[in-house]
Formats: sequence, C-alpha cells, structure tokens
Amino acid sequence: MSKIRVTIWSEGIDPQLEPRAIALYPNDINAYLAEALGTNADLQIRTASLSDPECGLSQQTIDDTDVLVWWSHLYDDQVPDEIADRVMNAVLNGMGLVLLHAGFHGKPARKLLGWPSPIGKYRELGEMERMWVVDRSHPILAGMEKEYIEVPCSEMYGEPGCIPKPDELVFISWFEGGEVLRSVCGWHKGAGKVFYLAPGHEEFPVYYIPEIQLLLANIIRYVKPVNTPPVRWRGEVDSIETLKNPIKPSPRG
Ligand code: ZN
Repeated sequence: MSKIRVTIWSEGIDPQLEPRAIALYPNDINAYLAEALGTNADLQIRTASLSDPECGLSQQTIDDTDVLVWWSHLYDDQVPDEIADRVMNAVLNGMGLVLLHAGFHGKPARKLLGWPSPIGKYRELGEMERMWVVDRSHPILAGMEKEYIEVPCSEMYGEPGCIPKPDELVFISWFEGGEVLRSVCGWHKGAGKVFYLAPGHEEFPVYYIPEIQLLLANIIRYVKPVNTPPVRWRGEVDSIETLKNPIKPSPRG
C-alpha cells in the first residue's frame, strides 16, 4: 500500500517574542509533529515553512502532497495570494487540508471556507480544555480509548462565530473558564476535505499529548484524496443526450 504523502507547514516561531514556544519546539512545530507522527508506517512526512522559497509550497511540492497540515498563528498573511490560491485549487481537486489551531485564520482557510471575520473569542491563560466526542461513528476516532481528550493547558477559543457551519462535527470542547468550541470539525470542498483541529497553541505542550497525536494521524488518514472522477468545473458543455427541442440562446455580452 502506498504511503500518504504529508507536508506539515508552519509559519515559524519568533525566538525573541516566543521563548516558551521555542523551549517546547526548538526546531519549530512542523519538525516536532513530523517526528511525532513519523512512527506511523503509513505516513511519509516532510516539512515546509513560511521562510522557505515559495513559502515551501512550490507547485511541485503541492503536486507531491496528499495531505497538507497547516499550523499558523500570526504571520501567514505573508503568504502570497498566488500560493494560497495554489493550496485552494489543490484542495478543490482532492488534496486534504488539516488546519491546526489558528490556521483557520490563514489565507488558504479563508479562501476555502469563506467567512469575512475570522477573529473570535480567545484567552491565553493555559486553562484546561476537555474535548468531548459528539459523533461516535466517525473514523478519526479509531483507537481512541475514552469519550473525551483532556488538554491540561490550552488557549481558549470560544463560540459563537469562530468558524463557519461545518459539514462534520466530531468534538466539542469545554473550557475551564466556561466557554465551548466546535473544536474538531470538517468541510467538503470540491473533491477535497478540510478538517480543523483547534487545540495547539505554541506556548503550551498540546502536541506532546499522545491522544492529540493519534487524532491528528487519523484526521490525515481521513482527508487523504480518494480517486474521484475528473470534473469539468465550468463553462458551456454539450448535452450528453440529443435534445428534442433546443432553444437557441439569445446573443449576449
Ligand atoms: Zn494560540
């Protein structure tokens, strides 16, 4: 069986502004996740960063990627529109996209999910987050031993209004401070799937948690491309059957 080709992208961590994050992830979050998920024999993982040529997302890299994992928090508006469009088009044609943490603010997410005001409630005080399963049939739960995951130290993202209505909702988080969040959910876009995994603030050891690593691996497996038939996306097409009484269109434009 061929491996799932995964590219884990990060905007990078500023060592001056984020010393706690550097202490947790000295080689960046993408490198940490690549190592943590590298134990899965079905995943072939590489990393890419905002600071790489073409933001690490050349057309060749995108063409060689089944699932793109996107971690960003503050800086991914620096990604040129052309490259964000490249990601969007790849998803519409079948590539999986996993948005981590504030990645749903990022350019590819906004282009694909299309909501105008991405900033919702947040609080960075390291409170407990308990993620409750709300769809027990979902394949991303494979191997989970409990009906919830606890993140002892998390950043709160709160409802309402953080995310557009999802097509699939698998976890709802409750935060120690009282808010809730649709924290693991997904959308179908063209031939591709987009999934959101909310916990992952860079100053807390969220990605150290084994259940989070398992969940991320399962999400990657779920959003990998499937062999769907090619589709002509737009434009005038000939009819498949012979029309009995076709009416000639008016001349326009
Ligand atoms: Zn954060």
